[in-house]
Amino acid sequence: MSTDLPELRPETLAVVRGRPVRAVDAPLNQPPVFASTYVGALAPDGELGYGRYGNPTWSAVEDAVGALEGGRALSYASGMAAVHAVLELAPPAATVVLPDACYLGVATLLAQRRTRYGGDVRLVDVSDTAAVLAACQGADVLWVESPTNPLMQVADLAAIGAGRPADCLYVLDSTFATPLGQRGLDLGADVVVHAATKFLSGHSDALQGIAVVGSDDTDRFARLDSTRRLQGAVPGPMDSYLVLRGLRTLPLRLRQASENAAVLASRLADHPAVDRVRWPGTGSLLSIDLPDASTADAMITRLQLWVHATSLGGVESTLERRRRWAGELPSVPPGLLRLSVGIEHVEDLWADLDQALSASR
Ligand SMILES: *Cc1c(COP(=O)(O)O)cnc(C)c1O
Repeated sequence: MSTDLPELRPETLAVVRGRPVRAVDAPLNQPPVFASTYVGALAPDGELGYGRYGNPTWSAVEDAVGALEGGRALSYASGMAAVHAVLELAPPAATVVLPDACYLGVATLLAQRRTRYGGDVRLVDVSDTAAVLAACQGADVLWVESPTNPLMQVADLAAIGAGRPADCLYVLDSTFATPLGQRGLDLGADVVVHAATKFLSGHSDALQGIAVVGSDDTDRFARLDSTRRLQGAVPGPMDSYLVLRGLRTLPLRLRQASENAAVLASRLADHPAVDRVRWPGTGSLLSIDLPDASTADAMITRLQLWVHATSLGGVESTLERRRRWAGELPSVPPGLLRLSVGIEHVEDLWADLDQALSASR
């Protein structure tokens, strides 16, 4: 990439990064490369070598997400595969500081590891910076999600980044905010994690996880790469292609979805059927509290446009009653619905929500 332009903005990086070298008759876009192996050299081998070690389609995604986050990215088979690889940076019996409401898969994985290997999990309210900083004294890992799933609590990432002990691995799961909402490395995190399954791909058709470390953090990069090679949770080339294709429109999708969410959040706050709206004031995710589980379930069955589905961050508006999952944390109210607002016309989205809510009163 030419360096005589001023620093490129995120909207541009999302479009221009991760492309093949510009040459006559080269494809403009990185195609999916389906290869379990590559033609070898006598010694040493080439940069790729084998399909579990590298793939040009992964590299394209990693180049683009790394540029957006201001670091070096590695992609994995899913968000949880990236989470797992990052936890492998810590000792098995690690003491981990975790938000008291966070992505259920992470909480469950840590609970399993504690049972198997020992260690401890310290739950904190991430919006309480003093409590977070106190909990990371003597801890091995500080795991932060912001905004949190599904309570939408927001952490003061800059204050946490400045105040946390240097020897406590600070990981930020930035899935909800995307690199356009916050850049965790700039705010003092050691590793940023994304479920690219969600906003980055944006079309509910691919699974992928990303871990990003600082550009000069060659040690953690090598360890994350080694975990990927040896544990084998590698992304499929087709998923990588879909993630990269989705990433091109991330800024546009996010802008429209957030605009829609702002309108819906303010109307929902005035709706007599809604007890509480949890919206961090930006982004396209929000949660609403209905009085109880049966009211929420009845509302869901009346929806025609909104789809009842887990996951989030797609162009389609979806929603989910989180406590339908047996393991969901007790801090999540039974009547809470998490809404992932898409890019449809906001009036259509509102009309559907309004009819379903009004009938549920
Ligand atoms: C979905 C999600 C994950 C896990 O991603 P998968 O691709 O489903 O494995 C991790 N963290 C957060 C915040 C998520 O929303």
